[in-house]
Amino acid sequence: MKKITILLFCTLFALAFGSCKRKKFTEVVEVPLPSVQENLSLGSPEDVKAESGAFELIQLPFNYDALAPNIDAQTMEIHYSKQYLTFTNNLNKALAETESENLSIEDVFKKADLSNADLKNNLGGYYNHTLYFDILTPKGNDKPADTLASAINKDFGSFEDFKTQFKESANKQFGSGWTWLVVDKAGKLQITNTNNQENPLMPRVEVAGTPILAIDLWEHAYYLNYQNNRKKYIENFFNLINWKKVAEKYEEAINE
Ligand code: MN
Repeated sequence: MKKITILLFCTLFALAFGSCKRKKFTEVVEVPLPSVQENLSLGSPEDVKAESGAFELIQLPFNYDALAPNIDAQTMEIHYSKQYLTFTNNLNKALAETESENLSIEDVFKKADLSNADLKNNLGGYYNHTLYFDILTPKGNDKPADTLASAINKDFGSFEDFKTQFKESANKQFGSGWTWLVVDKAGKLQITNTNNQENPLMPRVEVAGTPILAIDLWEHAYYLNYQNNRKKYIENFFNLINWKKVAEKYEEAINE
């Protein structure tokens, strides 16, 4: 019995060894993961211009590498000069020679036929990125002041409570989308999420209102630097918020 067991073991070993030997001929090819490129030659945001049309890109008053390490240069360049530019050009093309060409972007939302999926994506994509790039600054990391600070304290308890709730909301977003701070119809501040390129100016959203702050939760907004650690990107986004800009948008929204 013992002999049979040993024989069986040897046969199995030989088989396994043999198959290992055959595998030796198969080279293991490493597939490089996307990563932040070293010595990247960056373009300048000033050189990025929309093709002719009603809407232009919001100017980025700093270079692509200015937000690092919170957002890396390559992500900023691709996001601004490729993705945002494409939404802008597509929107301009869609609105060319329509009456919407002469409207403000907010009024375009009121008129637009959002059952047209392409138009909805490009209009949302343009508006959402315009707000996102407008409220980012390398000199962030401060707090809201004055009227906006009081409103945040009133509607969320404190600035720290607001941060916690905003981050919780962003972390809960499943898949691509956005988290917003909006002024609702009653003038109250609310935090809400939307999917894809939707936003609180569109019909049938959970919370309708005027957005004053937004975080892009699409993977393209953070993946090169953070990979799957979206939570850290959301945390670090708070180092980049231009609260003066957000306050201006708040004042405009409540005085509408
Ligand atoms: Mn984006």
